[in-house]
Amino acid sequence: MSHRVTLIPGDGIGREVSLAARRCIDATGVDIEWEEQIAGKEAIARFGTVLPEGVLDSIRKNKVAIKGPIITPVGKGFRSVNVRMRVLLDLYACLRPCKLYDGVKSRYSHIDLVVVRENTEDLYAGIEFAKGVEKTKEMIGYIESLSGLHIKEDSALGIKPISVSASKRIVKFAFDYALKNKRRKVTAVHKANIMKETDGLFLDAARDVAGEYKGRVEFEDRIVDNMCMQLVQKPELYDVLVLPNLYGDILSDLCAGLAGGLGVAPGANIGDDVALFEAVHGSAPKYAGLNKANPSAMILSGVLMLKYMGEDSAAHRLEKAVSDVIKEGKQVTYDLKPDRNDPTAVGTSQMADAIIVKLKN
Ligand code: NAD
Repeated sequence: MSHRVTLIPGDGIGREVSLAARRCIDATGVDIEWEEQIAGKEAIARFGTVLPEGVLDSIRKNKVAIKGPIITPVGKGFRSVNVRMRVLLDLYACLRPCKLYDGVKSRYSHIDLVVVRENTEDLYAGIEFAKGVEKTKEMIGYIESLSGLHIKEDSALGIKPISVSASKRIVKFAFDYALKNKRRKVTAVHKANIMKETDGLFLDAARDVAGEYKGRVEFEDRIVDNMCMQLVQKPELYDVLVLPNLYGDILSDLCAGLAGGLGVAPGANIGDDVALFEAVHGSAPKYAGLNKANPSAMILSGVLMLKYMGEDSAAHRLEKAVSDVIKEGKQVTYDLKPDRNDPTAVGTSQMADAIIVKLKN
């Protein structure tokens, strides 16, 4: 069966790693018609906007997309295109498997964690009020009158919406993923001891949903700071983690670090009807155009995409080809060599070539 997939190359190293991923996915033999769409820096130059409407139309039509990283200016400029896409397409579940492949440098011998992050609300909702402006002063006065608490007048404010509906659907996603993928346990992560209303609501919702899976998948909860320490000290105790947006963002980088770093960390943003696959890493501007970046995270995001499309055998073969190349350690990028200055490191496209050779053997 032929598939149509929207491909967004993205910024920085995006075009190089996307091309590598596309070539490897095509080499599995799965029949994909690619529809390339431009978003990010190149879209500003060509269309005067970071996210042309055609990009979302294409994803809505094709239902499946794979995307390279897109830059977000820090503290100023446009809001994150990545966050906007997730919200506008209601891609509420961010799935980030963190698996340690043989041959990847890590302080650990075995890591196999899955981070399920809520993608649409929390402090990520972008409801912020700037310091010193009239609206913020009004808001401060209003909150002080309602809560009886004092807020310094030189404060900026951020709002953290956490809803029952969004919390329940993300926890349900985590449990369904655990069942489907034969995982044993789901851990809900929160700070409900301090944020009793918002995180407390998330925890209550998680407990409610967990009840429906009793006897099939284990459930427990952890406070986020303790979770960080536990993950560093005994990651083997954990399996699938489900978290609100901000903790999910932070802990998925932590777990990616346990499993050898951003170069090998894939991801997916999944809604009820549409899915967008992307590596955890960003656009790594210092490596843009140098054919240096590790394409594995993007190719492994392609593996998640193939699984989502029901192409399980192709997904399995592609993951094995990537893991074999990494294990051999010869045709790999600088970050997968024991010494990052190893002159035998290959470039992005050569590592993809080696993966394609493995696929064909
Ligand atoms: P980054 O992930 O781009 O890079 C951090 C460092 O990680 C790099 O300098 C490099 O040393 C290493 N790295 C990342 N990807 C690699 C790869 N494939 N191979 C080898 N090494 C790799 O993070 P950053 O510097 O914080 O962000 C750069 C830009 O990317 C920012 O504008 C940020 O907003 C954006 N970003 C986008 C996404 C996304 O599109 N989903 C995600 C994260 C960051």
